[in-house]
Amino acid sequence: MASGKLIVLTGPSGVGKGTLVRALLNRHPELYLSVSATTRSPREGEVDGQAYYFLSKSAFETMIEQHQLLEWAEYAGNYYGTPRAKVEEKINQGLLVLLEIEVIGAKAIKQSFPDALRIFILPPSVEELEHRLRSRQTDEEAAILRRLERAKEELKFSEEFDQRIVNDDLEVALQELEAAIFSN
Ligand code: 5GP
Repeated sequence: MASGKLIVLTGPSGVGKGTLVRALLNRHPELYLSVSATTRSPREGEVDGQAYYFLSKSAFETMIEQHQLLEWAEYAGNYYGTPRAKVEEKINQGLLVLLEIEVIGAKAIKQSFPDALRIFILPPSVEELEHRLRSRQTDEEAAILRRLERAKEELKFSEEFDQRIVNDDLEVALQELEAAIFSN
């Protein structure tokens, strides 16, 4: 059986990680996307267990204490983390497992999974990132500003990752992502 692998996709909020992941899964349904846990409230249309596992703060903290998370981070006032069991199960089954997570958690994966392929998605520019964050219209102004400040900090870490891909043209970025995932 082919050996499984962990692929970590990171980059600032608004860079288009979600869109890239959806396009990637469309083309390669054999990839397994990990469902994260979070303490943030569901957005309209988000289903528990599909978009995220929506947890209370205390339930999330119990998962931390019991080492049930592969990584976790605080982001814009909420916790986000990757449940460990499912990821390990799918990798042991030989699958390629995708994580779509923020930068601090992605950095931490290097310790728990040294063999993970860690890919950083960059925006064409900070101005373009701000434009994308605003045009989503899913968040209030204060949340947008918090995300933008965080994004500027996160961009400083891009050099620490195995691969960097600029998401300017979606199709080009997607092809670079496919090359990174399937050629290694
Ligand atoms: P959103 O609230 O927009 O869904 O996600 C906010 C940020 O949290 C995004 O950058 C997203 O990639 C990240 N995120 C989602 N799940 C996880 C996770 O399990 N761990 C970490 N560290 N970040 C996550």
